[in-house]
Amino acid sequence: MASEAVRRIVIVGGGTAGWLAACLLAARAGECAAVPLEVTLIESPDIPTIGVGEGTWPTMRGTLQQIGIGEAEFLLACDACFKQGSRFHGWRTGEAGDSYYHPFGPPADGAPRDLVAAWQEGAADRPFAEVVSPQPRACALDLAPRQRPMPDYAGALNYAYHLDAGKFGALLARHGSERLGVRHLRDHVIGVDRTADGDIAAVVGRDAGRVEGDLFIDCSGHAALLIGQQLDVPFRDRSSELFNDRALAVQVPVEAGSAIAAQTDATAHAAGWIWDIGLPTRRGIGCVYSSDFASDDQAAATLRAYLRSQLPHLDADEAAFRRLTFRSGHREHFWERNCLAVGLAAGFVEPLEASAIVLVELSLQALLENFPADRSAMELHARRFNALFRYRWDRIVEFLKLHYVLSRREEPYWRAHREPGSVPERLAELLRLWRDQPPSRYDLPQVDEVFPAASYQYVLYGMGFPAPARRAGRPDAQGGAAKLFGQVEQRARALAASLPTNRAYTDALRAESLGAGQLETSR
Ligand SMILES: Cc1cc2nc3c(=O)[nH]c(=O)nc-3n(C[C@H](O)[C@H](O)[C@H](O)COP(=O)(O)OP(=O)(O)OC[C@H]3O[C@@H](n4cnc5c(N)ncnc54)[C@H](O)[C@@H]3O)c2cc1C
Repeated sequence: MASEAVRRIVIVGGGTAGWLAACLLAARAGECAAVPLEVTLIESPDIPTIGVGEGTWPTMRGTLQQIGIGEAEFLLACDACFKQGSRFHGWRTGEAGDSYYHPFGPPADGAPRDLVAAWQEGAADRPFAEVVSPQPRACALDLAPRQRPMPDYAGALNYAYHLDAGKFGALLARHGSERLGVRHLRDHVIGVDRTADGDIAAVVGRDAGRVEGDLFIDCSGHAALLIGQQLDVPFRDRSSELFNDRALAVQVPVEAGSAIAAQTDATAHAAGWIWDIGLPTRRGIGCVYSSDFASDDQAAATLRAYLRSQLPHLDADEAAFRRLTFRSGHREHFWERNCLAVGLAAGFVEPLEASAIVLVELSLQALLENFPADRSAMELHARRFNALFRYRWDRIVEFLKLHYVLSRREEPYWRAHREPGSVPERLAELLRLWRDQPPSRYDLPQVDEVFPAASYQYVLYGMGFPAPARRAGRPDAQGGAAKLFGQVEQRARALAASLPTNRAYTDALRAESLGAGQLETSR
């Protein structure tokens, strides 16, 4: 294959995936590519972005920093607030008091076997996460993970964000085109030109005509315009493992001064679960369900009942829901010829644990850190990328499935989730192993695992999975772990005394920015 520099990047799609790709490529091109890159983003004026995707991962802090957006600017522009993990209600049995945290911070340092045994022996009456991490306490108090004077993106606790997806897209678009030099075309792609050997030579816009490129990033959402429709890369259906395929979403205003939750709340129902994400001015709430087990009307009734219980001031009968459908699965591979699919074009499995945007970020980091200097190197990069991301999709499916297989709920949907035929083989094997020893880094050996062993421990013991028996021969271990738990307790108290609430943090930020605005005008 001829040696041709990879210089012109064409991104199709202007959703979160497209604009994150454009901003990261434009901001980091100098350090990663051999030649100056030209980044063009083309998005259809006819097809709206999906408009959901409001829970992120801690990776987003690094992403925003690389792109060059200040934290206060981001928080204000996106009506955003801090997220410190997830809290699951009703997943074990659905009975009262059935609730646990999966915080972003890892458990206190210690060998998993000793930590779990010490929790069992000394504190089994308290939830695992609350014994080994100070973060659940901070979440229960609706605290922010940082104080205002801290440097941007630094925190006393690990954190991500909840945000308004529409505003986030708009901020990235502004930043990308005005500050990073991304060429932005609002045009509908109506065709694709291929070279004789099968590469994509250009996409054809209805008005702009041919837009040529060396590398194409398919961020066209569920349409998968390039990777699916054009390059015919097969779709790998995962709906026999993860059954959900629908969601009803609603946004409801909140009262001024009301508390802002520090975690995504995920409440199980008879045929799925409900997400609840708090922002400074509204809550984003949605009912995720499987159409095999619930009709749209049943899901709507479930969501209305939730709204009534959570927001009694609201007239739940008047709330209008947006219906979204999706197919659980992903492409067999993601980088084909000179086209890389990112975001919904690469795949989507249900939003439990918010693993979609983080995969966009990880895909772009992998591209940037392994950027092909010329076309002849692309095949090799593609093969490595595909192997890594196939590994990641498989791990995500397993981790999401873990939440379901451990449940003891008895509705048909939950029983079906426990059918052995629906459980990935590797997960079934790990579950057998975890009866003997707790999840550890040996089970998840990659450096950048999407979900590390700590996440498995939180879910496993949060869901009531039996802890393995203590082994003899480590007499010092219990004293050591008990000391650790004491330190966790002390840290939780110190954080409670020093951190502001999410509401206090965001209100102060808003007041400062208004003050600064007034100062500017009066000058
Ligand atoms: C119910 C639900 C809840 C979710 N919650 C979360 C969450 O909490 N956290 C998380 O990380 N993720 C979540 N996601 C996933 C998240 O929304 C997406 O991963 C993210 O928004 C990226 O979407 P995208 O940019 O790939 O696609 P889209 O937003 O759909 O953008 C597609 C773009 O392609 C363009 N396009 C399409 N066809 C053409 C054409 N012919 N010519 C030109 N342009 C074209 C469109 O105009 C649009 O700009 C959720 C998804 C669903 C369905």
